[in-house]
Amino acid sequence: MSESARPSKPAHPAGRSPEDWQQWFSQQGEPRFRAGQVFRWIHQRGVFDPAEMTDLGKSLRERLANDGLESPFVVERVVRSTDGTRKLLLRLRDGLAVECVLIPMTNDDDADVAAADADDGDEGEENGGEPTWSGEAPRRVTLCISTQVGCAMGCVFCASGKAGLSRGLESAEIVAQVLIAKRYLDDNERLRNLVFMGMGEPLHHYEQTLRALRLITHPDGIGMSPRRITVSTVGLVPNIEKLGRDFDGKIGLAVSLHAPDDETRNRIMPMNRRYDVAQILSVLRKYPLPPRRRITIEYTLIAGVNDSPDHARKLVRALGGLRVKVNLIPMNPVAGSGLGTSSNAAVEQFHEILSRARISCSVRKRRGDDVDAACGQLALNAGVTAPVSDDGAKGRKLPTMN
Ligand code: SAH
Repeated sequence: MSESARPSKPAHPAGRSPEDWQQWFSQQGEPRFRAGQVFRWIHQRGVFDPAEMTDLGKSLRERLANDGLESPFVVERVVRSTDGTRKLLLRLRDGLAVECVLIPMTNDDDADVAAADADDGDEGEENGGEPTWSGEAPRRVTLCISTQVGCAMGCVFCASGKAGLSRGLESAEIVAQVLIAKRYLDDNERLRNLVFMGMGEPLHHYEQTLRALRLITHPDGIGMSPRRITVSTVGLVPNIEKLGRDFDGKIGLAVSLHAPDDETRNRIMPMNRRYDVAQILSVLRKYPLPPRRRITIEYTLIAGVNDSPDHARKLVRALGGLRVKVNLIPMNPVAGSGLGTSSNAAVEQFHEILSRARISCSVRKRRGDDVDAACGQLALNAGVTAPVSDDGAKGRKLPTMN
């Protein structure tokens, strides 16, 4: 059994699997079938307050409360962008904060806003393809969630990592983002995709991310299909391999490549000095992708850094033979980074070179940037974490890997 298949016991009860709950109920001298009841209250109905679990006796509800079952955070603020994007600021019980973002798909979005919206047109909607009362098809929404408070990866163009890593989220805190964000869907909306593209590096926090994925996909809980979930990573090679193994490649994978060569990538992503471009491409070739699925390559375009035609041609060569789609992201401005967004002309030219080489490629539209909910802007203004260290990619000490 691999180390990741046997995670330690979660501290917050909402991180427990049905099997963990069975154990807990046995210890309490209660029948094991209660496990399913409580799990469904939490993970199907999003109820964290034992007082609302009406089919449980009073003393049991009290014991659950004493055991620490309560919402892992409060929604402190909801900011709605003019494009319908909603950013939720979540205050955790220890006073730290993270954010998650609901992103409605527009008609012309297709697959590009959610890297997750896969090429599998044959699937029914598991969580409600039924028409709404007005007879219209429900609007699909992607939820972008966080896995850590801050981030240790130090990418120079990203705001989330500016203050370093405060701590990883517990699986309960990860899954609760889905359960609680669902309450903020409009009547005509359905949660369709889930992307691990908020704050933090999910594969630098593997055990809790894995546990959260198992909870989110559990048929007695949210029951989300793994193919509607995308985990995005800077390219932590051993854990890409683990994720592939632990979910048979069924979880969507997005890799923040941002450069086709080590020289460019070293300048903007310190982690490249540990896992370089060649190692990343090699592990992607081995990822057990199901038929007709593709890996998403994220590429943030930064003026004069990685956006030249030469970079585009190198990228074409690097991706040769891989089943990928490329998501170009014109960099969202991050104050103090000294980096600029690529011009429209540069973005178009880059796109053109990839398309001509028959690489499936889209330009990610900016969503929610009027409320700082766009990529790389999360928790800029929330007063979230520790002191700012601003030493860029070069002088940065690499974090230890788990
Ligand atoms: N740590 C993970 C997931 C979080 S970031 C990862 O790096 O993949 C989600 C995506 O937003 C990544 O591709 C990241 O590189 C990108 N991003 C970060 N800052 C950005 C910015 N300022 N503009 C555009 N994209 C950015």
